[in-house]
Amino acid sequence: MVNTKSKPFHGILIYRKNYRENDMLVKFFTAEAGKKMFFVRGANRPKFKMISDILPFSYGTYEGELRGNGLSYIDSGGSVKHFDQISEDIYLNGYATYLMGLIDAALPDNVPNKIWFDKLFYALNLINNGFDAEIITNIFEIQLLPLFGVAPDFKNCTVCHEEHQIYDYSEKFGGLIGEQEFAHDSHRMHLDQRTIYYLRLFSAVDITKINNIKVNRVTKQKLRQVIDKIYDNSVGLNLKSKKFLDQMNSWKIKLN
Ligand SMILES: [Zn+2]
Repeated sequence: MVNTKSKPFHGILIYRKNYRENDMLVKFFTAEAGKKMFFVRGANRPKFKMISDILPFSYGTYEGELRGNGLSYIDSGGSVKHFDQISEDIYLNGYATYLMGLIDAALPDNVPNKIWFDKLFYALNLINNGFDAEIITNIFEIQLLPLFGVAPDFKNCTVCHEEHQIYDYSEKFGGLIGEQEFAHDSHRMHLDQRTIYYLRLFSAVDITKINNIKVNRVTKQKLRQVIDKIYDNSVGLNLKSKKFLDQMNSWKIKLN
C-alpha cells in the first residue's frame, strides 16, 4: 500500500526514545518542516527494516508523512548516512548530543528553520571531521542566545552602542560594556580581553564557512565559565546532556 501523503524530506535525527513495548519516537530536524516527532511502529522488533536509518547520529533523505501537528510517520529511508566518528567516540558523542539538545530547546517544533538546519548539519560535520568540538559548541551556545530571549550585544557596548577599546561582560546590562561603563556595574565579570575577543568572534562567525580556529586551553576554560554563567543566570536551561558533558570533562581533567 502506498501512502499518498508520503513525501521526501531531509532530516537529521536529534532524539530517540523507546515507546511502548516495540515502538519508538524519533525526532528529526527536517530541512523542509523544522523539528518533527515521528512515531515508528515496530522499531524495537528484531528485523525491523529501517533499523539503520534511525540509529543515533543518522542523517539523510527519508520519505514520510509530515503532519502539521501530532506525530508524523516515516515510510522509508532513502540515502541515509551516519556521523561515524561521532558515534564511535563518547566524547564527540557528548558534544553532538548537547548541540542537538540545545537546538531542540531553542527552536519550536513544526516551524521550518533552514538557517539552523544548515548550521546544525555543518556543526555535526565539522565535529565528525575532527574540528574542535568545544569551539563548535561555544559558537552554537553564543549564537543561540537570542533564540532564548537573551541577546547579549557582542558587537558594541550595550550601554552606549559605541565601539570601545576595552570591554567586559555585564549580566546587569545583558551584554558587553565598554570601560567607560565599568563604574555602572560593580559585578561585571572581569574578563580578560582575549576571552572577550573570542566571545565577539564566536557571535559573528559563519559556521558554514569556518575552516580553522585555535583557542588555548586557559582561554577555553574562561569561555566555558562565562558561557555557563550566562546560561545558568539568564537562560536557565537544565539539559541532561550538558550535565553529562560537564561530568565527562571533569573525569578528563582528573585523568590527565
Ligand atoms: Zn559604552
